[in-house]
Amino acid sequence: MSGKIIKIKAREVLDSRGNPTVECDVVTEKGLFRAMVPRGASAGQHEALELRDNDKSRYLGKGVLKAVDNVNKIISKRIVGMDCTKQEEIDNLMIELDGTENKDRLGANAILSVSMAITKAGAADKNIPVYAYIGKLFGVNPSILPVPMCNIINGGKHAGQENSIQEHMLMPTGAKSFREGIRMISESYHHLAKLLKKRFGAGGTLIGDEGGFALAEITDVNERLELMMEAVKNAGYSGRMKIALDPASSEFFYDGIYKIGNKSYSGKEMVDFYAGLCRKYPIASIEDGLAEDDWDSWVEMTKKLGSKIQIVGDDLFVTNTKRIERGIKLNAANSVLIKLNQIGSVTETLNAIKIAHKNGWSAVVSHRSGETEDSFIADLAVGTNSGQIKTGAPARSDRNAKYNQLIRIEEELGSKAKYAGKNFRKI
Ligand code: PEP
Ligand code: MG
Repeated sequence: MSGKIIKIKAREVLDSRGNPTVECDVVTEKGLFRAMVPRGASAGQHEALELRDNDKSRYLGKGVLKAVDNVNKIISKRIVGMDCTKQEEIDNLMIELDGTENKDRLGANAILSVSMAITKAGAADKNIPVYAYIGKLFGVNPSILPVPMCNIINGGKHAGQENSIQEHMLMPTGAKSFREGIRMISESYHHLAKLLKKRFGAGGTLIGDEGGFALAEITDVNERLELMMEAVKNAGYSGRMKIALDPASSEFFYDGIYKIGNKSYSGKEMVDFYAGLCRKYPIASIEDGLAEDDWDSWVEMTKKLGSKIQIVGDDLFVTNTKRIERGIKLNAANSVLIKLNQIGSVTETLNAIKIAHKNGWSAVVSHRSGETEDSFIADLAVGTNSGQIKTGAPARSDRNAKYNQLIRIEEELGSKAKYAGKNFRKI
């Protein structure tokens, strides 16, 4: 058996914010395959458990030595010797070994580090790229390059702000290729930097966790979007770029009331607020416009705006098929954000995308605010023909690692590559 797993070894390394995270090496006859787990700051309450040591004497309690131990002492004992191409079998075995609903025992970070490294080993065993291998696991012929959602203005937790919209993103839907799309984004980003420098001086271009500008002085979302539109115009791309928002509203939801800046809104008023923004700006997508358990308001928003824009559930669904199925039944959204570490294994992540696609929903593959140099999600987005990826501003290598990998994949696919462009929601 060429795919036999010879060794598994995890360790504690640093993520893009300098916090510990789990890295795992899987060794087969074909070599060493490495995966790193990302970490959210505005994480949903219903995500699978990220195991932290809570030992205040190390990394302010954020160490992951317990999760590392769980890989090295528990998981590896059961998986070494297995065939790395048995992704589902291995993932199910780890889930069984954990034995809890939320991966409370071994930790989603421990399990996911192994799961992603196994995918990479499996691809190498079949002598194909990771995206092509994911295509086989998922059951499609991968050819679609995703439209990137690029977060060029960072707010909320990613920029040390309270009661503020978290992500203001550009989507180059009018590009002809991914490579052109990322150029449009980069040029618009740098035009925005020019505008900010002119207005605020040197400190105006400080950036947040996802590489977007952290505009402490500008709290009004209208003003932020105006600046983005001006930057896009200065770059020469008016009419070819859409806007996406992720308010991450669970972060500013207090006992039934949403607070942005010094204004308060009911769920219904939030929907009206978004409807107003959609009338003013070319908004194509709003994620987590409402809080993670405010299902009624989600239904209201989908009724009112669902035929015009993409309504994406992140904290609402946490890449969990049970919550996605509930959302589909209720008509609470029309799209799901996909984050591997919210659920904790590649197989479960693929199942979440499958359920979305089967029901005519789109799936947006996403990074976390705390990232690593691992570009796995680029392959995941292409491997599932998802058509969309959200992975930050075109700044800092933890973000650009994903964009650069997509540039390589597009090149490799050659004439087979199709950029999703305006059809980013079509499955
Ligand atoms: C998000 O909310 O979509 C996000 C990427 O942020 P985080 O990783 O902090 O949850
Ligand atoms: Mg989100």
